[in-house]
Amino acid sequence: MKTDISRKLFAQARKLIPGGVNSPVRACKSVGCDPRFITKAAGSKVYDADGNEYIDFVCSWGPMILGHNHPAVVTAIKEALENGTSFGAPAPVEVELAELVTKALPSVDKVRFVSSGTEATMSALRLARGYTGKKVVVKFDGCYHGHADSFLVKAGSGVITLGIPGSPGVPDDIVKNTVSIPYNNEEILEKTLRDESLDIACVIMEPVAGNMGVVPPEPGFLQKVRALTEELGIVLIFDEVITGFRLSYGGAQAKFGITPDLTCLGKIIGGGLPVGAYGGKAEIMDQIAPDGPVYQAGTLSGNPLAMAAGAATLKELGKPGFYEALDAKAEKFANGLSTLCQKYLEHATLNRQGSVMTAFFAAGPVFDFDSAMTADTDMYGRYYRAMLDQGVYLAPSQFEGAFISAAHSEADLAKTLEVAESVFSSLKK
Ligand SMILES: *Cc1c(COP(=O)(O)O)cnc(C)c1O
Repeated sequence: MKTDISRKLFAQARKLIPGGVNSPVRACKSVGCDPRFITKAAGSKVYDADGNEYIDFVCSWGPMILGHNHPAVVTAIKEALENGTSFGAPAPVEVELAELVTKALPSVDKVRFVSSGTEATMSALRLARGYTGKKVVVKFDGCYHGHADSFLVKAGSGVITLGIPGSPGVPDDIVKNTVSIPYNNEEILEKTLRDESLDIACVIMEPVAGNMGVVPPEPGFLQKVRALTEELGIVLIFDEVITGFRLSYGGAQAKFGITPDLTCLGKIIGGGLPVGAYGGKAEIMDQIAPDGPVYQAGTLSGNPLAMAAGAATLKELGKPGFYEALDAKAEKFANGLSTLCQKYLEHATLNRQGSVMTAFFAAGPVFDFDSAMTADTDMYGRYYRAMLDQGVYLAPSQFEGAFISAAHSEADLAKTLEVAESVFSSLKK
């Protein structure tokens, strides 16, 4: 596979942009190769600057659930574009998307749109603190909630991938108000939440963890979190930036039947444009300015192109049978991959939830941060590079999900399994 143009672009990019990238995992450091520069995407495929075609399982890290350049989304963006790209004033399409979101998520009475998942989670945290008058946020090891200071404690995603324990530049004064505990451990959860010396404002969690690889909640775990937070008057924030409109139209909360107090959204709700959102009970949301004292604002918030892309995406997702078809396709693929893992690899564990999955090179089971960390990341690197060279574009990290979109055809998935079989057989020692 020719990669000369990508290689030249990366050399130039590194002179101009830190690490040559605008988000760290994209640099592919942990998988031991240089990134491909993508020039085009359509349906289930992405194309690089050298003209190579790949079946795409990154899907822009989750947003592209309909596949790239879905005609309904492209049309909505084009129509919005004709009328101007930003007004800095209320626009009808904001009301339309807010209506779609609140209808999809019964726990969300009101929703505020922002421009990224990071902005959503940091705003939800400020709101929970403002509402309760308390300081501490409890999070779970290996969960990722964007890059705001308070969340960079035992965080997932690029923070794990690059082996960074926290981050310089985050003052201890801030981090001392963040308590991070193991995922799926009810005992430590209960002990922590009942500790009155802690002054806990909120618990934030990915209801299905997706940023230490896919790690589903054990039966009863989410119920336990909800029961304890409710009893103790702690605000429960579900970070559904990945799971919202991914696991079902109502996200993880609908799938598991749990009602959080606040929900953070992102990725899919922007249809591939930069959007985040946080919403929840009216009583809490009414604390936000201008109705309440908790300040949060954004010049490009509710951007009309982004809102239009989001609304068009949600309308497609709301069509009957969408998730049943997507999940059935993902299940069949996961079963195929699982069979190959068993046949060729000594240690492999496939975790899947709906249309997102992670094949861990680990004996398993993988149920929390420590068990995820047992994965053989060198082997993942060899797997990643071999798959890439045969036209399969995976996340350049063991600790991320592979996303299946509506655009992945049976032929795409069959071809991916064929490539995986040849790669696994060569990985076998
Ligand atoms: C991606 C992600 C974020 C951050 O969203 P950005 O748009 O990258 O800022 C927050 N939470 C979760 C669960 C995510 O997966």
